[in-house]
Amino acid sequence: MKTHTILLSLLWLGTLPCLGSADRPSQLPERYRDFAIYTTSRPDPTNPAQIEMSIQLVNRGQRSLPTRVELNPRPKLGFKGGSTELDLAAGQMTTWQLTFHPPDGLVKEVIEGAIFFKSTRARDLFIAVRGPDPEGWQPDSEPEVDDPSETLVITDRAQVVATYAPRVRIDWWQRHPSSTITADQRVEPTVTLAARGRTDYAILVDVPEAAERENTDFQGAVADLARCIRIISGGAELPVVVSPEQGQRAIRLRFNNQSQWPHPDAYHLYTTSGGDVMIESGHVDGLRNGIYGLLTDHLDCHWFMPGTLGEEIPQPGNQAAVIGQIDQRRCPAFYSAARTNWGGGRWNLRNRNVARRGRIMYGHAFASLLKGTPELYEQHPEWWARDRAGTVRIFDQETGWSFTNFCTTNPQVLDMIARKINDQLDGPDAILASIDPNDLAPFCLCESCRAVDSSYGADNPDGRFSTDRMLHFANEIHQRLDPENQDKQLGFLVYGWQIELPETAKPGPGVTGTICYMDWDYDHTRPMNDPTAPSNKKFLRLVKGWGKLLPMMGYYDYPTDYVHFAPYGQVMKLREDIPLVHDLGVTCMVIEGQPIQATSALNLYICSRLQYDVKEDVDVLVEEFIHKFHGPAAEPMRNYWLGAEYYTATLRPGPRAQDRMTRIPAMWEALDGYLKEAETLVANLPENQKRFRDRVAFQRDGFELARRKCAIRDLVYTRQKAVKPHALTAENRQRAEDYQKWIATTRQRHAADDSYWPPLLPVHYYSSLSNFVGGVLKKLDAAGVPSASD
Ligand SMILES: [Zn+2]
Repeated sequence: MKTHTILLSLLWLGTLPCLGSADRPSQLPERYRDFAIYTTSRPDPTNPAQIEMSIQLVNRGQRSLPTRVELNPRPKLGFKGGSTELDLAAGQMTTWQLTFHPPDGLVKEVIEGAIFFKSTRARDLFIAVRGPDPEGWQPDSEPEVDDPSETLVITDRAQVVATYAPRVRIDWWQRHPSSTITADQRVEPTVTLAARGRTDYAILVDVPEAAERENTDFQGAVADLARCIRIISGGAELPVVVSPEQGQRAIRLRFNNQSQWPHPDAYHLYTTSGGDVMIESGHVDGLRNGIYGLLTDHLDCHWFMPGTLGEEIPQPGNQAAVIGQIDQRRCPAFYSAARTNWGGGRWNLRNRNVARRGRIMYGHAFASLLKGTPELYEQHPEWWARDRAGTVRIFDQETGWSFTNFCTTNPQVLDMIARKINDQLDGPDAILASIDPNDLAPFCLCESCRAVDSSYGADNPDGRFSTDRMLHFANEIHQRLDPENQDKQLGFLVYGWQIELPETAKPGPGVTGTICYMDWDYDHTRPMNDPTAPSNKKFLRLVKGWGKLLPMMGYYDYPTDYVHFAPYGQVMKLREDIPLVHDLGVTCMVIEGQPIQATSALNLYICSRLQYDVKEDVDVLVEEFIHKFHGPAAEPMRNYWLGAEYYTATLRPGPRAQDRMTRIPAMWEALDGYLKEAETLVANLPENQKRFRDRVAFQRDGFELARRKCAIRDLVYTRQKAVKPHALTAENRQRAEDYQKWIATTRQRHAADDSYWPPLLPVHYYSSLSNFVGGVLKKLDAAGVPSASD
């Protein structure tokens, strides 16, 4: 028996593809996020020339981890290296103390090491150390840290600023369920849906008209199903029918509202003994997800970026679309999700990141409910936010980003707002209305508003701690909803003057909030649960607190560099944050996924996949992205994407990580080098692999767009945005004009076939870019620096 088993497994191993054929080592923690490592430092109180380093090892998992950590010596830092070995029990945290003697004039050094679980080398380890900041140095162009414990300036002789422990390269990604099933993993008997241009399958749409059979997104998915199988099989056309011919097998899309589904968009995908493929759901959106489940999880079709260039549909040598036996139920992790890739409509649907059509989404709304005018301020001052003396706190912004708030306790205002909200909620499709204040507009300080604050024990002297009264107002409006609207939601943003936890007010039924993870206030250089960033400690406390208060809670994050459009590694953060907020009670995701694809595509892709399933193994997804999207350029492009992660993750803590990332010369140099290697590899690819060359070219365009912008910024402006002395030169004028021309040409090239190229920049950012270059040229004009072409 024993011999037989061994023989079988040897044979079985022999059929595996050589790349990525291993299984996941059993010694690894159950989940990546079960193990964490953080480092802090302080000068030795008895000898300030010596720095004490405390390394925290955390096991958040369910089983004990036999752990070994090794740190290499770093002579430039006066660090001798070290190693520790321990059994880290489930739920345990332990601290390991080390010291080093940094030299004078230290700028930045990184201690390198490795983490093992038993004999498996599981993580690389990087501990970033910085020397003191120069006299008068300022951290950011616009620091807005509201946590007093945030130390943005380093005064110690050396300070540990970051710990980054990414997983080592994995060779088991292809066999992990997070990647598409491999041929040898298919459960027998296999089913051939189509081969060599022929098929005996149809796509049967078994959906009543009343169940939105004609829904555009659903119809688009049906078309994708037929199209992808056509591509895989070398031209087979699956007819789309509402009743199959005798003996015709089918991929059957069956509307089933009899079963109990865990989520409206959930689906059941399975094969039958007769050879049919069934996709069942109680909603067309679930059927749509099931189609993309079949295409991605089983037929290896991927949409890594928007545009034709972002699509990767296999064209196997045997021209066969084959699946194994399937019985799979999947369901979105969040009740509602949306906007992961702005303007990437179909891309979002194909990656299954839209849940409940993203209906739980809202923004600032006071002005749309009741907007002030000079006449109204005059006639009805009592309707508006007023100061203690009774003067209206006018906040109408010329550019329209914000307006004057109304008073939230005035009875007339409450009646007007309740009537408007009831109108908005009219009809079964409206399930939510926004009652969010105008962006950062001051709240009312009238006697009755202040009485509301004190009734909750809230001290709100200048209207900047308005959480209790915001909840009070939301409850008041909800009580005024018509009976048919009582089960609907009122939403506000947990943001601005109502981000702090309330003193005692509680949201009533039907009141929901969305917490905003503002990157200008909070830290995006490390995961939210990393305690070495004080602002994130605060944010985590808020998420935990609000998660307990709100039965339905939204989460809003910004995983792109929408300022400079530069490389920005957020995968190391999204991988921890999204499952964490899910655990803490977030039910609705809204992502500000600005389509800055060339430098942020990996962030958006990973974000999207986690939004659908928080349990996905992110390293598996990353390897699949790199290998399948970049093909022959996978090696250097892997370094490119992971390089962006490394440089972001080794920054000091603090807000505005994007901006700080652009100020690391080594980052630009390293990433440029990887792109050059990739360019060499794809330069002479045959025509049928042209897409791999175009993908590298696309990355290059996005990289140059950002690099040239930042180079001009650094030549012309100080970090505090003042023009540098001696910067207004003919050479810089040439640089700016060249850049302007380059933008126009690049934009034109991409626009020439905009269904092929993913968006390089959204339209609104092209105008901000042109304002930037225009601003530089204006300064040169004013200084009388002539154009080279004059
Ligand atoms: Zn008031």
